[in-house]
Formats: sequence, structure tokens, C-alpha cells
Amino acid sequence: MRFNTKTIHAGQQNEETSGAVMPPIFQTSTYAQSAPNVHKGYDYARVGNPTRTALEKMIAGLEGTESCACFASGVAAMDALMKMFRPGDHIIASDDLYGGSYRLFTSVFQPYGIEFSFIDMTDLDLVKQTVKPNTKLFWIETPTNPLLRVVDIEKLSAMAHENNALSVVDNTFASPYLQRPAELGADAVLHSATKYLGGHSDVIHGAVATSNKEILENLLFQVKSSGAVPGPMDCYLVLRGIKTLAVRVERAVSNAKKVADFLNDHPEVSEVHYPGLTSHPQHELAKKQMDDFGGMVSFSLKDDSIEAATKFMASTKFFTLAESLGGVESLISHPASMTHGSIPKEHREKAGLKDSLIRLSVGIEDAEDLIQDLKQAF
Ligand SMILES: *Cc1c(COP(=O)(O)O)cnc(C)c1O
Repeated sequence: MRFNTKTIHAGQQNEETSGAVMPPIFQTSTYAQSAPNVHKGYDYARVGNPTRTALEKMIAGLEGTESCACFASGVAAMDALMKMFRPGDHIIASDDLYGGSYRLFTSVFQPYGIEFSFIDMTDLDLVKQTVKPNTKLFWIETPTNPLLRVVDIEKLSAMAHENNALSVVDNTFASPYLQRPAELGADAVLHSATKYLGGHSDVIHGAVATSNKEILENLLFQVKSSGAVPGPMDCYLVLRGIKTLAVRVERAVSNAKKVADFLNDHPEVSEVHYPGLTSHPQHELAKKQMDDFGGMVSFSLKDDSIEAATKFMASTKFFTLAESLGGVESLISHPASMTHGSIPKEHREKAGLKDSLIRLSVGIEDAEDLIQDLKQAF
């Protein structure tokens, strides 16, 4: 099965009793048993639900992994994954990553005794020097948020394995339509399905896809024991969103390229971050590990101030000022005060995250309208 066909059919079957083409929303908390522990594969809905199973098979199909576990949110999925690790374990993560990931690592898991190093993971030598005997995980986010740096999944996964560590990729920004980390050697792939997979800004959801038995066992144990599971309606919404993933992302990428070119030529813009620009420092790597360059663009202004960015964002009509990304509608945000507000200013500046940096999630509207909107906001 090729990718577009997978978005419709991977792991799906028509429902047995009625022939329904979409899986029903199995709104139930428990399942009848014919004798103690004799049942049709489901006993209690925290542990499993057929609507969730249909979605898990779909996401595993898209990522090319054997299995997938779904969670109530992207951070709940990360939380479940992180519970594999023990006090004294060391984790290497990017210094340019989703603010909520940074908060989960430093404010939840660090106090439990897990050690983190936040570094520029585009620098492979630096990653090598940062590995310690107790390093257990490389946490890779690529393209990174919000600077759209591209990190080498294949090389870093190999380096992790040479050091008896695991590699996990947060694939939220690219979506499996553009990048399939498991094919490049990653042990697990994480999604905030809230973003491109759901695609309509109407659901919070997370998933981890993996073919690694140890990771899967841990995830299923967390599903049962910690229980941050999604409801059947949410699973249904994500599954419905995935049916149009390919056409949505294709349009968003085509729009994002035009927006990036427009910004790149604008006199009031100081830098544009988009992996599709030949000036992007990892443009060649992006060409190699991604099928296309994504729908996210960020840029900073010549007038590098929070005020200038705020003024710009107040003037756009089609780009709505909001957190999140990956929906059909275009969004605009200001990382320094919004998504990355929980990262201390000196850490932000060290990572190159400027005060005027503006992040766009380019939607599927007409590119001409989006460009016109940005033009009048300058
Ligand atoms: C949004 C996001 C998350 C967290 O997901 P939620 O569904 O909001 O919990 C994790 N990683 C990235 C890259 C994200 O954009």
C-alpha cells in the first residue's frame, strides 16, 4: 500500500455488524464477559476501545511501525514514554524544542532524578561529547520548534544505538506524510495528534508509534496503570482527520513555500526559517530525510522587539493569533511570549530565539490571500 492509500485503509475494516465504513464511536466503559476473563478482546475501556484500536492501527500503518498507543494528549504520550526511565538515567534533548516538552522534562521528570542535557542537536560532535555512560535516550524533535532546524534522524539514531541508548522522534511538525522516522532508525515516533493528524483544531490527542517491544510493553503498562487515555470521540475525530492528511499537508506545504519566498524578499524581515529555502543551514538534510519541507515558517523582524512583533500580529486577518499548529486554518504566534514562555529568557536567547520571532502555521487557504494578509500587516 502506498501512503495516500494508507491514509484511507491502513488497519481499517468495515464494521462487522452493520458494514459501517467508518468505525463507530464505541461509547462504553466496559464490555460483557461470557465467563470471568472470557471476552472479545476488550474488558475495560481504560485498557482498550475498538475506536481507539482502529486509530492505533492507522497511525502504526502511516509510520510503518508494528504498533501504536494513543493518549489523551501529546504531552500525556510523552509522559507515558518518559516513565520508562529511572532516577540516574540521562537524556539528551534539543535546546530548541516544544515548550511543553521542556516543561515536562525540567519540572516533572528532573525532580524525580532524571538528568537532561539540552543542546544543539544539529551539531553531531556536540551530541557525541554529551553522551555519558548513563545516557539512555536521544530525544529528537525535527524540524525543531520554532526555529525549524533539521536534525539528522538517521545519524543520531545510529549514534544512540552505538551507545546503548534509544532514539525517539517527535514527528508532530512534519507528520508521517513528509517524514517517517522509524524508517530512518528511530525506536519510537511521537505525535501530538492535536496538530496535523487531527488537522482541524478540534481535538487534543497524542500517540506513540513503535516496533520496539520494550517500549510498547511500557506504553501499554502506562495506558493501563496511569490511564491518560483518549475518549472514543477524540479517537474518531483524529481518524477522520487522517483521511485527508495527504491533501491537507500537500496544500499547506505549497502555501508555506510561497509565504517563505515572500517573507524572504521583504525589506522589514531580518531572517526567515524554512527548510525549503536554499539558504537554510540544513536544506540538503531536509531534502534527504523529508519528502517535502512542511507547513511551518518562522521569521524575525529587523525591528527586533516584542512590541514590533505584537503590532504585526494584531494586524493579520486570516492568520489568527493562537497557539497550536497543523490545522486547516492559518495561525500566527509569538514563541517568546506564548509557546516558549516557560523557557527562561537567557536560555531562549542562547538558542537563538529572538524577541521578534513570529511563527506561522500555514493553512490551506489560497496562498494569494495569505500573502496579501501578511503584506498589509507590515
Ligand atoms: C503541541 C505539541 C506537543 C504537545 O502535544 P499536546 O497534544 O498539546 O499535548 C508536543 N510536541 C510538539 C512538537 C507539539 O507541537
